[in-house]
Amino acid sequence: MATEMEELENPEEENKASKEIDEELESEEAMADENPATEAKLQDIPGLGPKSAEQLKGGGVETPAQLMEASLADIEEMGLSRSMAKRLRESVVNEFPDQYSDFVEEKTLEDIDGIGPTTAKALREKGMNIRLLETTPVKELEESYGLTANSAMKYQTAISDAQGGYFIDALTFRNKQRDSPSFTFGAESLDSIFTIEEMGTKGVKAGETYEFFGSFRSGKSQICHQLCVTVQIPPELGGLGKKAIYIDTEGTFSPSRISQMANRLKAELGWDKPVEDILQNIMYARAKNSDMQIGIAHKLKELLGEDGEEYGLLIVDSVSAHFRAEYAGRGSLAERQQTLNNHLSILGRIADTYGLAVVVTNQVQANPAQFFGDPTQAVGGNIMGHWATHRCYLRKSKGEKRVLKVYDSPVIGEVEAVFEITEEGVLTSD
Ligand code: ADP
Ligand code: MG
Repeated sequence: MATEMEELENPEEENKASKEIDEELESEEAMADENPATEAKLQDIPGLGPKSAEQLKGGGVETPAQLMEASLADIEEMGLSRSMAKRLRESVVNEFPDQYSDFVEEKTLEDIDGIGPTTAKALREKGMNIRLLETTPVKELEESYGLTANSAMKYQTAISDAQGGYFIDALTFRNKQRDSPSFTFGAESLDSIFTIEEMGTKGVKAGETYEFFGSFRSGKSQICHQLCVTVQIPPELGGLGKKAIYIDTEGTFSPSRISQMANRLKAELGWDKPVEDILQNIMYARAKNSDMQIGIAHKLKELLGEDGEEYGLLIVDSVSAHFRAEYAGRGSLAERQQTLNNHLSILGRIADTYGLAVVVTNQVQANPAQFFGDPTQAVGGNIMGHWATHRCYLRKSKGEKRVLKVYDSPVIGEVEAVFEITEEGVLTSD
């Protein structure tokens, strides 16, 4: 029996194969040529007035096909409203059903019952989008976006109804979780404790929240640095191929450390992205006090844009230091917890809304009530304690070794992994 190799070595077979490929390519080209929407003029779109036609041409859209390819944001830049753009695209779908019957229009604020073009535009200017509107508390929509509580609730119900209501079955839910990708720590021992076969997870999962707490020099910032690199690794090599955001409250962020880690991972994986590009894909902000930290968190939605598609990771290192320093003394504890709580809930919403992995670090303090074992506990009390999906405790071990212990996670037991910090970054160890 001929093997596949032999078949290909047979010149007759080879000719036949390449002929088939040629024919396929030709027919694809022919199909592209046959798309009448690339040949047609804008005037062929029913309902398109001369003014809109001029505006579209000004933006480089000359044919119905180009109108279908543009994004709604681009068309809005050209001076048309989004609802107008959608109406025109509907006309194109009706005019050229053979080409566009599968076309799926972007969902935007205008699609929600009760939101007209003016409200949609005003909300968008404040950084609002359909996903964020669904998850922002009504009180905040009232205070920061000028909506009445009534309409805010009406819009939120409408968004949820459009997705089939609040409830989904657990199988659908599991499949959704499986669809959400994960990326490597760049250290096998850490990846292996964060491997959940059932959910297709290996490493850090998009859309989930992580807290790394531990004492000074336990490796919190080192892990954060490395994740900013690994999130950028292409998916086929274990990353997400996405950018990172680093909010630094302690001034310990180091681009040269990033370069060292990037060089190691590039060599190990055969990944050929220039280090300059890797650095350029990390957006950095230094928060000098807690107000600034909160302000930066509010600005994130502008950086993330409408869908945050470009980004895979948000780091806040450390999330608690300013709060701990500024709200000293028992008297201000309640106020501190309230402010920290608001800040954390915004970070959680970002993970949820944009599908970003959010990683925060936290310090530990001596717990005078504990006499045995490790007399340290994380800062931030219950508020911090209930925030992250995965809480991890880091501690120093012998030499360069460190231990990460999963402290509290809904899907992982209390397991430990050993890692090392060297010149090359955060490495696996046993
Ligand atoms: P923290 O938990 O306080 O954020 P870090 O993550 O910054 O601590 O870890 C600091 C430790 O990382 C240092 O004490 C050192 O052991 C190690 N480290 C940092 N940079 C390097 C390097 N270039 N080479 C080797 N080890 C390093
Ligand atoms: Mg640190």
